[in-house]
Amino acid sequence: MNPLPSYDRWGSLKGKRILVRVDFNTPVAEVDGRLEVTDDFRIRATLPLFEELLSRGAVVVACTHFGRPQGQVVEKYRVDPVRRRMNELCRDVELLENLRFNPGEEGNDPEFGTALVAGFDYYINEAFGASHRAHASIMVPPTLIPSAAGLNLARETATILALLENPARPFVAIIGGAKVADKLAITKVLCEKADTVIVGGGMAYTFQAALGHSVGSSLFDASYVEQCAQLLAAGNVVIPTDAWGLPSASPFGANAGHEPATLFGADIPEGFVGLDIGPASAEHFADVIGEAATILWNGPMGVFEDERFAGGTETVARAVAKSDAISVVGGGDSVAALRAFELEGDVSFVSTGGGASLELVELGDLPGLRALRESPFH
Ligand code: AMP
Repeated sequence: MNPLPSYDRWGSLKGKRILVRVDFNTPVAEVDGRLEVTDDFRIRATLPLFEELLSRGAVVVACTHFGRPQGQVVEKYRVDPVRRRMNELCRDVELLENLRFNPGEEGNDPEFGTALVAGFDYYINEAFGASHRAHASIMVPPTLIPSAAGLNLARETATILALLENPARPFVAIIGGAKVADKLAITKVLCEKADTVIVGGGMAYTFQAALGHSVGSSLFDASYVEQCAQLLAAGNVVIPTDAWGLPSASPFGANAGHEPATLFGADIPEGFVGLDIGPASAEHFADVIGEAATILWNGPMGVFEDERFAGGTETVARAVAKSDAISVVGGGDSVAALRAFELEGDVSFVSTGGGASLELVELGDLPGLRALRESPFH
């Protein structure tokens, strides 16, 4: 595969106008009557690129999507809070209005893409988290002006591809999260690439059902039982053998209730719901993780937003953090969990693009990366 084009080959950037596609789709909340960014990680992560370009004399204009305004101007999706935070951190960069206010963005409309790059000398894609989408701001600029990969996009792509192509072994993958439908394709790929695949979270109950266990009213998708059974038959999938749960009608979630959790074995009876892996599973998972030389983790082991069901995710997070293995953690929830336990600095690489990193693992490429590699302006 061709390497991603780098902006190093452009020579002097003095006075050059550079359009940088970023992913500043950050969480916001109302503070004193106006929206403010509550997590500026994605903005801070882009500062090294901005600072380098500015120090080389370039004029830098950034563009991002923000929320889902569906091709119309929606006041609450204006980029103002993001722009304010960005300009507190870096004054000299301009941020264009939300790309998704124009239906041409998600429609990958060449006319919208052409208007976007008008007046620019160069384009840089620094939006790894948006590069699995064939949208205009990702796909069209590389067909029109010299284009390159941003620092984080290049690093994130190289890290994930290296992990898949030539991992130090044993390679242990940990997959969790709510829905088996969302994660089965990647689980399949990882079963081929990794030595062991640990499955936890809501998606694990379909695997447990495939072994004939009862799952009560836990998350479960009958249409995937057969495929889960096939993966289990391959022999390198590890699933939970116990679970913490609640009666089905009991509330759960962030600040949702105080009823103590009940511990089950591999069977969850009718009238109960499984919400976290149990202590025996957590200990076993941690032992497997402790043996790994490479770790890929995506998705929590339970409803970690509710402290009664955070224990499994915390045990896994601590095992990943303690390991000397090369560890890549992706997916908003796993990263949020790492941060909640203050372990973010103890892993080798925190991936910013949830869906994009899953798709890169699954398919080995992304539309936005392909667009950069296939740009005729090399
Ligand atoms: P995902 O976006 O697929 O990574 O899923 C993350 C969400 O899965 C989190 O909000 C968790 O609360 C949720 N989750 C994890 N385990 C369970 C479970 N056993 N039952 C219900 N939700 C779960």
